[in-house]
Amino acid sequence: MSRITEILESIPVDPLTGSISVPIYQTSTFVQEAPGINKGFDYARSNNPTRLALENIVAQMEMGHKGFAFATGLAAIDAVVKLLESGDEIIAVDDIYGGAYRLFTQIYQKFGIKVHYVDTTQAENILEFINDKTKLIWLESPTNPTLKISDIQKISEIAHSFGALVVVDNTFASPIAQLPLELGADIVVHSATKYIAGHSDLVAGLVITKTPELSEKIKFIQNASGAILGPWDCFLVIRGIESLDLRVRQQSENAKIIANFLMNREEIDKVYYPGLTTHTNHEIAQKQQNGLFGGVISFSLKKDSIDAANQFVTQTKLFKLAESLGGVKSLISHPAQMTHASVPREKRISSGIQDSLIRLSVGIEDPLDLVQDLEKALLSIDQKIKEII
Ligand SMILES: *Cc1c(COP(=O)(O)O)cnc(C)c1O
Repeated sequence: MSRITEILESIPVDPLTGSISVPIYQTSTFVQEAPGINKGFDYARSNNPTRLALENIVAQMEMGHKGFAFATGLAAIDAVVKLLESGDEIIAVDDIYGGAYRLFTQIYQKFGIKVHYVDTTQAENILEFINDKTKLIWLESPTNPTLKISDIQKISEIAHSFGALVVVDNTFASPIAQLPLELGADIVVHSATKYIAGHSDLVAGLVITKTPELSEKIKFIQNASGAILGPWDCFLVIRGIESLDLRVRQQSENAKIIANFLMNREEIDKVYYPGLTTHTNHEIAQKQQNGLFGGVISFSLKKDSIDAANQFVTQTKLFKLAESLGGVKSLISHPAQMTHASVPREKRISSGIQDSLIRLSVGIEDPLDLVQDLEKALLSIDQKIKEII
């Protein structure tokens, strides 16, 4: 049986009623026979059967020991940082998700946790910053929005030789394309808001641990801090996971077609997609991503201005202008004015986010319709430019 079939087969049919979908246990507490004698559940912050079903599925999906569901991706990241103590250090990928950067600098810095931001696309770059205070190496691969790739296996070897743990935010790849724990990482986090739930209808986060020791620590933090995912959202995430494999394969296939289309258009300057042989770390992506490169593509226009980008992103019909990614419906965004608006222009440009950089999250629509949608938008900027001339 294939791995994914086996995981989906393991989702229990409700033993009481035969319900094929996992029931939503909308309850705060569980009646006990005698003090401390219960059916494995006592209070819904500590545990809930719907959440437990989800946590078991994601542990298997990521080939981990245990999974933990949180209210949002950031709550999941927050739980992992709470493994540290004052004086500890983190080495993080330099174009880390903006919300993680804000959490590290504006919340955890004042508690004495120091973070070094490093270009991890060259594994050796971490050697300059790693020391006996380094407790975590924090990776995203691919990153947002320029899809940089880091070698998880190589970095894990270096990290472990210094006694540091490796955390991979696997949101962009999904466990269909990439299994960081198999590559040597110790903890995986997800914004399940994106590919895992996949329908742009909720926010959720996950932590998956590799060892019983880490599982015990995260379980303690999850219960002690309390940012758990409610049963209704756990149900929706499970429903999303049932089609995750199908969605990610179609999104990757659609994205490949679109990336090739963009490469051949004269209006386009650069195309960022790990599936293109022109991508700087294409070979590493090929090796660690199971031949699937995901549904996110970024590109810049030859006419590199905010105006040109604005013109483009307001012309597409199927690609809806919105933040977020990973859903079945295609989205388009303009990082300079949206997700990365708070980053100073110089810093933005030095990390590759040009004024005209546009990010696509490719959905599961017919790829030819998506290509046509982009083509129309490209022709419309052309038109505008001609009018100005
Ligand atoms: C969206 C996102 C997050 C944050 O997740 P939320 O569910 O929005 O809290 C973290 N990491 C990455 C890579 C993301 O794209």
